[in-house]
Order: sequence, then C-alpha cells, then structure tokens
Amino acid sequence: MKDKVKIFDTTLRDGEQCPGATMTLDEKIRVARQLAKLNVDVIEAGFPISSDDDFESVKTISGEIQGPEIAGLCRCVEKDINRGWEALKNASNPRLHIFLATSPQHREFKFKKAQNEILKMAVEMTQYAASLCPNIEFSTEDAARTELSYLAEVVEAVIAAGATTVNVPDTVGYAMPWQYGETIAYLFKNVKNINDAVISTHCHNDLGLAVANSLSAVVNGARQVEVAINGLGERAGNCSLEEVVMAIKTRSDVINVETSINTKEIMPASKLIRQITGFAVAPNKAIVGDNAFRHEAGIHQHGMLANRTTYEIMSPDDIGIHPEDLGGGLVLGKHSGHHAFKKRLEELGYELNETEVNRALKQFKDLADKKKKVYDEDIRAIIDEVTNVGAKPTYTIDTLSYTSGNKQTPEATVKLKKGDELLEGKTSTGDGPVDAIFQAMNQITNIECELIDYSIRSVTSGREALGEVTVKVKSKEKIYSGVGASTDVIEASAKAYLNCINRIL
Ligand SMILES: [Zn+2]
Repeated sequence: MKDKVKIFDTTLRDGEQCPGATMTLDEKIRVARQLAKLNVDVIEAGFPISSDDDFESVKTISGEIQGPEIAGLCRCVEKDINRGWEALKNASNPRLHIFLATSPQHREFKFKKAQNEILKMAVEMTQYAASLCPNIEFSTEDAARTELSYLAEVVEAVIAAGATTVNVPDTVGYAMPWQYGETIAYLFKNVKNINDAVISTHCHNDLGLAVANSLSAVVNGARQVEVAINGLGERAGNCSLEEVVMAIKTRSDVINVETSINTKEIMPASKLIRQITGFAVAPNKAIVGDNAFRHEAGIHQHGMLANRTTYEIMSPDDIGIHPEDLGGGLVLGKHSGHHAFKKRLEELGYELNETEVNRALKQFKDLADKKKKVYDEDIRAIIDEVTNVGAKPTYTIDTLSYTSGNKQTPEATVKLKKGDELLEGKTSTGDGPVDAIFQAMNQITNIECELIDYSIRSVTSGREALGEVTVKVKSKEKIYSGVGASTDVIEASAKAYLNCINRIL
C-alpha cells in the first residue's frame, strides 16, 4: 500500500489573508463545505486572534463542518493559543497550529532574541498548547532560511514537547527543489524522534517553485502538504492544491504516495474560489485553466480523435470538468421544468434551499427565453449570483435605463429597492454608460468607493452568451469584490457593482 500524504488546505487562512481576497462568513462556510467534499485532511479555517471575524469563522466552521480536522493559527504566545482553542474546541477533531520564526533574519530583526530564547519559547508554548489539545502543529516559520543544525534542534524539541505535526515552511518562496528536499532529508537523518510526528511542507510561490518544492519534500519523507485552491495566497501565492494533488495522482509511479482527495471536486472548488474572490485564473494555468484540456493544433486534434492518451496525461473527467465546460453538449432549454432544473443543480453539487432554487429557476427561465441553449456554466453563473447576494441584500435593482453614444454624454437613471422603498438616482456624467450607472448608484446609496478593477468575460460561447462582470472597489482602505451575470453586459456590470455596495454595507 502506498503511503498517504495529508492535504492541509489553508485557502481560508493564508489564501484569504492576501489583499482583495477577503471573504464574508457565509462565503467561508461555502468554501469549507466544498473543502469537505474535496475530502481534504485538514481545513485551516483562520487566525482566531487576528480579528473577531476570523474568530467567528473558525468557531462556526468548527461547529458545522464534519470530516476534516479543523485548524486555527496562533502565534507562539498564551493569549493567542487561548483564543485559538476557544474558537476550535467544538470541532470533532481540532488542531492548534502554532508558529514561531527560527531564521536568523527573523530572530534578529523581528524578535531580537537569541537561538536559545526562541527554542525555549517554542517548547513552552508547545507544552502549553498540548495541555489543551492533543493535536498540535508547530511551524518553524522561515525554516528554509534557518541554519540546519538549529532547525533540527527545534524540531526535535517541539516533538518532545508534544507537537504531532511539524511544519517546515518556505515562507518567503526562496528554496530550490533539491535544496529543500535535502533540508527534509537532513531532518529525517538528524532528528531522533522524527517518526513521532508528521513532517509538513508549506511553500510559497515567489519563484514559481511552490509545487516543485512541496513534491521534493514529499519524496524526502514529508507526509503533509499545505496548499490553497488556485494557489491563492500572499504575493505569488501558496502551493496550489490542484497541481500538487494531480501531480501525485498522475505520477504515483515515481512519487509512490497517494492522497485522499476526491479529484472530481477540484473544478467546482476552483470555480467557487474564482467567483468569491474575483481572482481570475490564467487560461494556461495547469489543471484548472480554461485551456488546460483544449486541443487546438490540428495535429494534436487528429491524435486526440484517434486516442485521447496521445496528448492527454489526465482525464478532464477526473478533475470534474464536463464536456459542457469545454464548449460541448446541450444541457437544459426553455422547456426544462422545475424538476429537471433541480436535478441538474444536485448533479452539479449545489445544495440550495427552496427560496434559492426558486430564485435561480426564475433567472434560468428568463435566460432560457433569451438563449436557446443553457449550459452548466450558465447555471453556475446564475447560482453564484443567487447565493452570492446572500439572504437579504440591502439594495436590489428595480430599473436601469441609460443613453449613450460616441458623440453624447452618457445619461443614466437607476431605481433601486431598499425594503419597500423605491429610490431613484440620475446622472448625466461619466465615461460611458457603465460609469454613469455606477455614479447613479453612489448617489442613491451614499457610498464612497473607488473602482479599482473591472473585468468582463463571456461565460459560454455564442452571440447570446452570458457575460460575467467582476468589479473590485476600495472603500475605507478595504477591498471588496462583486460578481454579476447577464446576457446584457451593462446589467451584469450594475449587478456586480451593487453586489460590492451591499457587501460594504
Ligand atoms: Zn504562508
């Protein structure tokens, strides 16, 4: 039997921490549910002491999500550990994750502490954490730049103090694969009690090597990999879940380990993160990019028709990509009823309540009236929008009207509903109809925000394709993103912008 590598997902902690990826509590729960479907071994749900929001989300996820272990991050101090434990203790399998930097750069500039003082803190706090929870992960922050003999000393001491997992992170994305592998091999050779703990990797992608470094650690004995969906994370991001998992699956002949991931949930997870964060994925991104399984060159297509293995090392089906995603088959049309629609939602993995199903069905009917073929992608966009809006958005769109042209100043009139009130905003300024509509909404809602990003993409092919607009705005130093979909791009833009406003509120 192959050794198992644990997948520790930190999309909700390290991923969410990156600028612009902030998620609401509802969104975090949706992500956690998807992570449970993926069957990850550990969900790092947040950094409880960093904010009340983080505390709440770790606590809620601990109470609601069954299956994976739930981890919360804490600095190596008692008050962090107490707060972390408070958030985690209701989980069926909680894990306290404490971290302390060990590299000379961090010791000297961040802590102004000597090696032995850092070691003492690490041991004392591991013992303290272990007195609360049997499942302790200790991270030697910036391990990749730590002196090897000192690193081995810390690892041995924290295992003796009760750490059940020791993480050896490349926090700054500095390591080379062979070098990082040697570090792990060195620990296995020089730490006497190393088999009493699981050795873990946490690699950042600053040099594009996070996945390679993680695999190199696995080959040298690491049995946990810390990852994020779509490689989300600070700077260039974390090791990407989908890449490392599919590398292990596809090349288990040489890596000789396995994971418990249900790979068919990879694509739905990737799409969920794109939609929630508004962070697009490059078309040529491995595994989940739009082009990852498209074969354009004639000679490749010829080979593919003869046998898919000629140019394909993985099956798109294994990742949860369906033929419709690649622009094929018809799914539903105008005459599909409530039953067929609901069944399709279930097949696509959505669990919606009756109100949400009815809202989605109404939008589906409207869309089916406008276009003949409704693809899975269209349905996903509808669901994203229906669930993204949340239970009670403050404002909803009633009417939009605008005039515009290359020789005229755009004018827009917007009517928004707030409860039973109908509010109207009018402008005759702006750089175009979209800008005019945004300004009219600002007028009604009295929100001050700055548009920092606007992007539009076509969800499916054809002239009457659904357009999906993602808008990012900055308000009081915080970044918010919103998504809207419609066959009319101006309406999609208005929905996305209003989505941001509702989030600010
Ligand atoms: Zn990190």
